[in-house]
Amino acid sequence: MPLKRGQQHDRPSRDLELNPVFSREPVKVPRHALPKGEMEPETAYQLVHDELMLDGNARLNLATFVSTWAEPQALRLMAECAEKNMIDKDEYPQTAELETRCVHMLARLWNAPDAHRAVGCSTTGSSEAAMLGGLALKRRWQHRRGADAKAAKPNLVMGINVQICWEKFADYFDVEARYVPMEGDRYHLSPEAAVELCDENTIGVVAVLGSTFDGSYEPVAELAAALDALQERTGLDIPIHVDGASGAMIAPFLDPELVWDFRLPRVASINTSGHKFGLVMPGVGWALWRDEQALPDDLVFHVNYLGGDMPTFALNFSRPGAQVVAQYYNFLRLGFDGYRRVQQTCRDVATRLSAEIAKLGPFELITDGSETPVFAFRVREGIDAFSVFDVSAALRERGWLVPAYTFPKNRTDLAVLRIVARNGFSHDLADLLLTDLKRVLDRLERQDGPRRSAEDAGGFAHGAETKNPRRPGRD
Ligand SMILES: *Cc1c(COP(=O)(O)O)cnc(C)c1O
Repeated sequence: MPLKRGQQHDRPSRDLELNPVFSREPVKVPRHALPKGEMEPETAYQLVHDELMLDGNARLNLATFVSTWAEPQALRLMAECAEKNMIDKDEYPQTAELETRCVHMLARLWNAPDAHRAVGCSTTGSSEAAMLGGLALKRRWQHRRGADAKAAKPNLVMGINVQICWEKFADYFDVEARYVPMEGDRYHLSPEAAVELCDENTIGVVAVLGSTFDGSYEPVAELAAALDALQERTGLDIPIHVDGASGAMIAPFLDPELVWDFRLPRVASINTSGHKFGLVMPGVGWALWRDEQALPDDLVFHVNYLGGDMPTFALNFSRPGAQVVAQYYNFLRLGFDGYRRVQQTCRDVATRLSAEIAKLGPFELITDGSETPVFAFRVREGIDAFSVFDVSAALRERGWLVPAYTFPKNRTDLAVLRIVARNGFSHDLADLLLTDLKRVLDRLERQDGPRRSAEDAGGFAHGAETKNPRRPGRD
């Protein structure tokens, strides 16, 4: 029984149909059972290929943060590395070496005081990296609290805007999630509200660089200062983990003066998604700790490496190495200047498009894409003919995926649309979107009221994954 329960598995379904050009005899290809016999590779390829045509056009997907385009050379390297298993350090020592180089490059990019003392690893994405970051915080708290930890319940403080992976971390690893709600036009955590939730069982505070709700940066330096003051007052020494899934690959290139990283002694660890603004196809993330003290040794396992010993910290054992190789390729290929140009273009597209959307009249910007190249906008107060959900559905008719969702506590009254400007979403595509948006507005403005609400949008938003139906799609 698959995790997904649905009618399609309960009712008897028709077999897959084979194009008659492939076989003179009728061939039985069941949909949910292993076929009895074999078929030709070309036939199997065509069947799978044809069915996948129904997946959306990734380039028109403005919901996802994850790369939908890569250079042919990166794809070629990935194909060449298809068999490489990241855990077999012994068998693929050069892949392991490239992973280490990427970690050192990121440690420098994030201003680790001593890049060679920083420790880190690749992961399958920011979600696994968040689990590892959270586990390190939890273990350090256990060491700090000693025998008292047994009876106590650890907690993690974060804004209610955190990505679903933090809710999962708390749930899977028995940590109480303490959320700072939104307030007025503050859509992420405030240092004061975060500090108020901290106590002797707080394992850490998560700061998000690039909130998935609106693309905004959380104020990491201000949070660090507030936690410094807390320590002076109470002696509580609470570390910060920065979830830089998207922002940790934007800020170093575009906002070098913004202090959010290992320059702040309180920042213990940082994660990013290599497959977001790291520009790699899906399947790689990174977790880094400022030094060995920040990653308790008793969490580290050891695998055999060329007859020697290789420390690892990961949830998975076997894992593809191709994405790590592609990350290294991108680092070499683009260098600092190349990444800066790519990210600046994303920001330019985001800020220009947001300004154009603001000029249309019925919309009001929540953010303008000037932090991560992501912005959210709402239907202006007093516009009663249509909802953001109507706009999202109407754009979908032209193939655009622009998610609409409601904000969480205490702004559940606020519904927005969100656009992510990724590499490959050009000014030209942005203009096409704008033209389509104007066209659908002509129609929507003639409606006598909103047709769709948050409930109708259920499951529409990309990456929607939640126990709480109020949470939007974030990925
Ligand atoms: C995307 C995202 C995640 C989850 O990352 P994956 O790489 O998709 O696992 C976590 N946090 C933030 C802020 C994100 O944007």
